[in-house]
Amino acid sequence: AQPPRTVTVTGAAGNIGYALLFRIASGEMLGADVPVRLRLLEVPAALRAAEGTAMELADAAFPLLADVQVTHDPAVAFDGVQHALLVGARPRSAGMERGDLLEANGGIFGPQGQAINDHAAEDVRVVVVGNPANTNALIAASHARDVPADRFTALTRLDHNRAVSQLAAKAGVAVTDVDGITVWGNHSATQFPDLTHARVRVGGADGGWRPALEVVDAGWAAEEFIPRVAERGAEIISVRGASSAASAASATIDHMRDWFLGTGVGTDGQARRTSAAIVSDGSYGVPEGLISSFPVVSEGGQWRIVPGLEPDAALLPDAAERLERTVAELDEEREAVTGLGLL
Ligand code: NDP
Repeated sequence: AQPPRTVTVTGAAGNIGYALLFRIASGEMLGADVPVRLRLLEVPAALRAAEGTAMELADAAFPLLADVQVTHDPAVAFDGVQHALLVGARPRSAGMERGDLLEANGGIFGPQGQAINDHAAEDVRVVVVGNPANTNALIAASHARDVPADRFTALTRLDHNRAVSQLAAKAGVAVTDVDGITVWGNHSATQFPDLTHARVRVGGADGGWRPALEVVDAGWAAEEFIPRVAERGAEIISVRGASSAASAASATIDHMRDWFLGTGVGTDGQARRTSAAIVSDGSYGVPEGLISSFPVVSEGGQWRIVPGLEPDAALLPDAAERLERTVAELDEEREAVTGLGLL
């Protein structure tokens, strides 16, 4: 048998954590033959709830679950961590200014980055889910000077999956018959889910691939699709009466699984692309060092930005501006946390 891999989940007693842990323990994230050792980090007030979750994990008798440990100490939680899922964050409360929110999260993600720096395994991979996810990831990375910056990522896979699902429904095809969508920029209302290079397979497995914007029109993309995807979180809250949790957990699993095991090839034999917020190398005019969502593939355990997919203004008139706007927001957040001394 393979040695267990160490997975740390922060905010483990929260809603996303509850939906996430059982799927990790069942082997859905790292593979059906890879045992896992779980570390659950919580704030002291939520430790007892996290212990309850650990009891349920034991009760499920997962064959792959080697160990579960619950702690409020980042040094313990990140000891030997190989997969860090940073879910716990300070939510925005009524009347809270943006600076206060960034500062509160700096107080969480700075020390966690430092603990990852000091205690993680050589091959650590970090995904930040807690909002503002991109900038929280930047703060954590900046406190982990000995860890390569490309090991810190933020989740935009839920936005990506929502975009795939919306396009498939509109085109009347299965989600497996949609590909090439990119979510650009920040995991926020400014995000840009881009269909200009997307394709749709009409007619099922034997059908042909067609440009998405020939199957659905650009007016729908601009007026319905983009805002629907960007505001889907609020829509879920209004219908379900609570934040999305299982879908966020599912996307987190997708992100870490693809990073670790690779995105592979699609049904057409070509590399399967997805979206992830990773550190910019300056591609697509995104300032170097920002953690921004790009079109990516994962090979050999590493994300790589796919070149040549500039949003096509011939198909969506304000495509370039949409990319610029979301990247400008990331730049402003970086300036704000720099000004607060959080980097
Ligand atoms: P959730 O588990 O629902 O959400 C956790 C974080 O994920 C939030 O920041 C939330 O952002 C974010 N998120 C990202 N994408 C989504 C999405 N699509 N839908 C919903 N949320 C999304 O929050 P809970 O309040 O249930 O749980 C948080 C837990 O974290 C608590 O148990 C708390 O004690 C813990 N915590 C732990 C810390 C630690 O371990 N050191 C530090 C801080 C908190 P948004 O708020 O914008 O929805």
